[in-house]
Order: sequence, then structure tokens, then C-alpha cells
Amino acid sequence: MTAGPSADDVVVGIDIGGTSIKGVLAGRDGTPRARFDCRTPVADGVDAVIEAVVRMAARLVDAAGDARPVAVGLVMPGVVDRAEGVARYSANIGWRELPIGRLVADRLGLPVAIEHDVRAAGLAEATEGAARGMRDVLYVSIGTGLAGALIAGGKLVHGAAGLAGEIGHVPAFPDGEPCACGQRGCAEAYASAASVSRRYARAAGGAAVPAEGVLARAAAGDAQARAVVDDAVVALTRMVLGVVLLADPEVILLGGGMAAAGTALTDPLGEGLQRALLWRPAPPVLASRFGSEAGARGAALIGWTAVGAASFPHSVTT
Ligand SMILES: [Zn+2]
Repeated sequence: MTAGPSADDVVVGIDIGGTSIKGVLAGRDGTPRARFDCRTPVADGVDAVIEAVVRMAARLVDAAGDARPVAVGLVMPGVVDRAEGVARYSANIGWRELPIGRLVADRLGLPVAIEHDVRAAGLAEATEGAARGMRDVLYVSIGTGLAGALIAGGKLVHGAAGLAGEIGHVPAFPDGEPCACGQRGCAEAYASAASVSRRYARAAGGAAVPAEGVLARAAAGDAQARAVVDDAVVALTRMVLGVVLLADPEVILLGGGMAAAGTALTDPLGEGLQRALLWRPAPPVLASRFGSEAGARGAALIGWTAVGAASFPHSVTT
């Protein structure tokens, strides 16, 4: 790539999740020009997942028309080594030490950059979404799991081993319920969408209710739903409290599936934080802007880094 990216250049951004793969084709203004999604063929093995990613990327390249696709950004859960382009580990998708960057680059003939999915979603929100223009942001994704992305001083924080953001495993209730990670009392065991659904089913009996339904029942006066949601809010409050004190974010953004609850979740978390912080104002807690598309938009932003370019002038760098 001798010449720098031009105004007609576009990138492909693909968010590889445990249940679905979402892709966008985006220009330098970040707005998707095309979008596709498909089921993640986890049951068919890692090769099938890679094949689905390559197929989607090729469709997005085809959708570019007169624009020139210059790079691909891939984001995924688990442990992601962005320097080496290797997906080190994902419990959800089942891969280990997979050189996914090289595999996809070889198939498409385009440079590929990779990143963790929640970090990419936070990057998208801080760059062009609900926290646009802010340089200190905590993004929290409440989905099947619970994780965060911290942007501090305009820079996305990765950590020494690339494990920054795993705040779902902050112990919220000492000696509390077991978490899939092996610890007890993790915030994730109380406040992820899967945990809210599971804890309500256990308390109320009967068929499983998705987390959104539990929130709705709590709002309608169901005492067991109220108790589960209250525990989730306490867990989220304890989880973010230390980050607020350490990093002083300008805003806390809630993303992921459960954030669709909007103020039913943002208001009690904001109030819980303010009750806990006696001597300083709590940062506002807001819903993210891009919802389930934040990861794919973030993947497109990451794609630009493969050709040494930011997507457009903005305040946050990777
Ligand atoms: Zn845990």
C-alpha cells in the first residue's frame, strides 16, 4: 500500500460472535454502506466459521461498487493477540491459537487487522457513537457475558496481556454464586443477560424468560423479577465503581443485548453509583448508540488500522 487511503476507499468490518456473524462495508465517515449477517456455524467446527467469515467478507467486497476495498477488520470474543493476528482462545467459538488474520488475508488478498469484540464496540461508540468526542469512556457490554472497554486519555486500553476489560469477573458478592470462570460472586454471575434469565427461572420456576422479559416483569411489579434485577444493578454498580474511581470516565455507556432496556437499566445504575460515591459526582450512565452493530462498526475502524489510517479525524486511537 504505497499511496495512502483515498476518499473512495472502504473497509470491511466483521464481528464474529458465538451465535451470529455481522458484517458491514464502511467508508471513511463510518456509516455502513452494506450490511450482512448470518448464523455462526459453531457446531460445524472452526474451518466452517472461517469459511463463513470469508464468504461474508467477499460479499461485502462485491457490494463496494466503484469504491475500493482496502482492508478487513475482524473482531471476536476471547483472548485476541492483535499484534500477531492470532485468536488465542475462545470458549464460545471453540478455537485456540488460530492465525485468523493470516488465514483470512490469504483468502481475500487484503490486509487484515483483528481486535477483541467488546473493545471494538467501545471504540465505535467513543469514535462515532454515544460518546463521540470524549476521551475517557467506560463501555460495558451486557450480553450473554459481561465485559467492558476502557478508553483512557483518548486511547483504547489493551493491558499487558491484552486482557483489559474483563470486569465481569470483578467479585460483586463475596462468596456468592459460582461463575463460569471458576471464581465465586462475579458480577457476570448476577448481571449478564444469561445470568438474569437463569436466576429468574430458578426463583420463579416455569419456562426460561429472556433478560429483557425479566426487566419488563420487574417494571410491572413482579417481586421475584424485581429482586433479580436489583441484584444485577448492585453487581453492576460494584463492578464499575472501582473503574470510576481509578479512571474517572466522562460517561459510562451500556451496550449489548440487555442495554436495549434503556433507562430501566441506566437510571438505577446511575442512582446506585451516586449513592456509593459520596464525595464526587457519578458520571452519567447512558445507553450506547449502535446496539448490536457496535462490534461490526468497530471492526471497520480496526480495519483502517491495517492500512495505517484512522477512519476519519477523531479523538480516540487504538
Ligand atoms: Zn467470573
